[in-house]
Amino acid sequence: MTVDVTCMSTNNFAEEEKKVLEMWKEKGIFDLVQKKESPEGDFVFYEGPPTANAKPALHHVLARVFKDVIPRYKIMQGFHVDRKAGWDTHGLPVELQVEKKLGISGKPQIENIVPGDPVASIKKFNAECKDMVWGFLDEWSRLTERIGFWLDLDDPYVTYENEYIESLWWVFKQMWERGLVYQSHKVVPYCSRCGTALSSHEVAQGYQTVKDRSVFVKFKVVDEKDAYILSWTTTPWTLPGNVALAVGDGVDYVYVDTGDETLILAKNRLEILEGEYKVVKEVKGSKLVGLSYESLFDIPSLKSDTSYKVYAADFVTDVDGTGVVHTAVMYGIDDYEFGEGVGLPKFHTVDEEGNFVDEVSGLAGKYVKDPKTEQAIIDHLTANNLLFGEEMYEHEYPFCWRCKTPLLYYARDSWFIRVSDVKDRLVANNQTINWEPSHIKDGRFGEWLNNIHDWAISRERYWGTPLPIWMCECGEMKCVGSAKELGVSDIELHRPYVDEVELDCEKCDKKMKRVPEVMDVWFDSGAMPIAQWGFPHKEGSEDQLNNHYPADYIAEAIDQTRGWFYTLLSVATLLEKEAPYKNVICLGHILDGKGFKMSKSKGNVVEPWEVINTHGVDALRWHFFSMSAAGEPKRFDMKGVDQAKRRTLMILWNVLKFYELYKDGATGKMADSALDKWVLSRLAETTQTVQGHLDKYDLTRATRALHDFITEVSTWYVRRSRGRFKSGEEGVVDVLKHVLLETSKLIAPFTPFIAERVYGAVGGEKESVHLDDWPESGKVDEELLKAMQQTRDVVEIGMRLRAENSMKVRQPLAAIAIDGAKLEDAYIEILKEELNVKEVVFEKNDWPSHEDKGMTVGLNIELNDELRLEGVARELVRTINGMRKDAGLTITDRITLIVSESGKAVFNVHEEYILVSTKSDSVEFGDAGDVEVGGIAISIIK
Ligand SMILES: [Zn+2]
Ligand SMILES: [Zn+2]
Repeated sequence: MTVDVTCMSTNNFAEEEKKVLEMWKEKGIFDLVQKKESPEGDFVFYEGPPTANAKPALHHVLARVFKDVIPRYKIMQGFHVDRKAGWDTHGLPVELQVEKKLGISGKPQIENIVPGDPVASIKKFNAECKDMVWGFLDEWSRLTERIGFWLDLDDPYVTYENEYIESLWWVFKQMWERGLVYQSHKVVPYCSRCGTALSSHEVAQGYQTVKDRSVFVKFKVVDEKDAYILSWTTTPWTLPGNVALAVGDGVDYVYVDTGDETLILAKNRLEILEGEYKVVKEVKGSKLVGLSYESLFDIPSLKSDTSYKVYAADFVTDVDGTGVVHTAVMYGIDDYEFGEGVGLPKFHTVDEEGNFVDEVSGLAGKYVKDPKTEQAIIDHLTANNLLFGEEMYEHEYPFCWRCKTPLLYYARDSWFIRVSDVKDRLVANNQTINWEPSHIKDGRFGEWLNNIHDWAISRERYWGTPLPIWMCECGEMKCVGSAKELGVSDIELHRPYVDEVELDCEKCDKKMKRVPEVMDVWFDSGAMPIAQWGFPHKEGSEDQLNNHYPADYIAEAIDQTRGWFYTLLSVATLLEKEAPYKNVICLGHILDGKGFKMSKSKGNVVEPWEVINTHGVDALRWHFFSMSAAGEPKRFDMKGVDQAKRRTLMILWNVLKFYELYKDGATGKMADSALDKWVLSRLAETTQTVQGHLDKYDLTRATRALHDFITEVSTWYVRRSRGRFKSGEEGVVDVLKHVLLETSKLIAPFTPFIAERVYGAVGGEKESVHLDDWPESGKVDEELLKAMQQTRDVVEIGMRLRAENSMKVRQPLAAIAIDGAKLEDAYIEILKEELNVKEVVFEKNDWPSHEDKGMTVGLNIELNDELRLEGVARELVRTINGMRKDAGLTITDRITLIVSESGKAVFNVHEEYILVSTKSDSVEFGDAGDVEVGGIAISIIK
């Protein structure tokens, strides 16, 4: 490889990475990597499809580098990894953007883009959607390439393409034929702005903590003077729809006399009353059943024999509110089932856009969640003496995950998939998955599966996979699994085109029409293991599916436990397949440096390009991998990236630069001193550790092991070997070269750019480190590692003793004593040099000491004249070299020393040492005065 590494400046990783990118492009390295021999077979990776209708953000970079690292590792290990890109293209997010672009909002306006022509309007709207989804494709491609995420962007799966939709239809039909699809009128979470129901996994993504106005309402009992049943609600807008009250059969209720009136509520909820009152009667809930009360609002369609009465229901408790539940049949899941059971009227007081209908006089046309509407409801209650009180109530309330409108629980006709039927298999399939972090399996994800609801699959919208169900007036239905079954071949399989296709009914002579709904967009991505190949319609798709199922590895952010992780598992399980992924990394969210969520309104969003242009991609990648365990929230700031770069990558880079100073001295044969053997043993150990953690998908520990190793190579091996390099000792360059080469391979999956540079600079054999094999671990000599560790421990303790006794390291000391460990000569030599002591003894004595790491280390701090003079000599050398530097001298400049008479004693013993170490020709004693050290004055003359 021909890249010139000497020009890479440590401060400009970013610029240098671009050269590596150039090289990859020029030589087609990614293609070569994909063609690399794969004796281990296929390793399957699935790309969770992002949407390209918005700019990629930092959290996308996080997911993408995690997606990248494992395939790189597996390829080096001899696997083949297809890296098919994918794009999620349908759904509300896109539709909302188009509404905004066209300056319209809501379904009536969409269907009137071409005035009076809904079909032409939908055609126009969907064409805009199709165009909109590629708005940021270039930006995505550019960022994907820059961060080194190797992905096959030339052949992606695209969820809006006909072959993809046909595949989804086939998947849906499989479920249909298994009897897993049904239509039902049910209370569902509903966005009144988007005009569609949402599925529970979408709802789970949109909860916010909010303060709502809650009210205590008095329901006037018929035929009892001034007696009221108290109830409580956090959704005042449901009060006009009230048709019944529910009590608990066995719950204790009390009649309370407040002086003006009688109130009825649960005994355990008396705490809500203020002021004086008297309990006049106590009854079980069953005694209240059958009481009639006056309606709050006059709504003719809600009147019936069953309306406005007290019923018993088993969902009633007395832990909050008043122990009496206000029931509006159409606006609560429990309410609806309960209403069906006792035959309460089903009438919507609220229309599909979230406004009161005409029958609700005084409120007609008003949006139900508008605070002004709530006020009007409360005013109405007050005017009729029906308001007991109100308070602000903090709770978790669901909002539309896309448009942020508060959701209404609202009864509608919807299509469902019976996920609850396959719950046991979902749970069992989950048990086969290796989750990182592992607590997700039975925690966040497992709990979600345990409380699973049927999947509300239909959306009353436009830009999505059309639900492939054709229906006849006679009730006959047909599910279609391909375009061929429709008898069409050349139409786009979107609305409104497919809406125009009619089928002959087999039961009668009428025509069947498609139901108007499209599918939940999460079905698109959940079925990607099958649909990405166009299975079963596309040629070769069966082989592709067989070779790529299940995935060995996927990675996304933690919110996907309610999204893609869930829909992938769901679709597979509904099709009676095994779990669609074996290993999954579930990433924590990115927060700002102080731990707050990043948001545009707070102005604390960090743009990926800003980080990349400042510190380079490797620094960012390394930071993401090493900062905290994958599943932890990530407190992110630029300082952290800078530190990650300085603490590891720049150290590696500096080691490489050091190597390059001496690289010509390589002999082809490695030296084998204790230090050399130690570094090779540490390399072997690190190789094993990194591999072990990578195999467990624990990237944090893998990077930390690499960090430790690189630091030790620099601060121990290289530092301790400087003299050997300078003196040209044979084989030491070869050791460092080998260490750097192997390190470049170990670090390649994590930081592919610097790895490439190091690999090239130490003469890696392949065109790219990414074409090389994962290193075989050499032998780990445990004994040797232990001895060196002990040596380093002694150094650390000895240094502590020196500091505590104010003994500079330059001052030689007589001895250090070790009790509790035995070291061989090689290590004794290291100790002598590191600690600047004359002797290492293995004994107990009464010198200042510390007991630590299983041994006692003592330091002899007594100085005799000899030691003192040597200390002074070293001090002089350091000072004189400092003076040389200040005078701007270079290593070739020779000097003469002028030293005061007081220095004679030192020079008598150490003259040669001082002259050689300071590049001085001679010393003269006399008047000197520039600098003084320990009573000795010095000048230098060039
Ligand atoms: Zn919405
Ligand atoms: Zn029919």
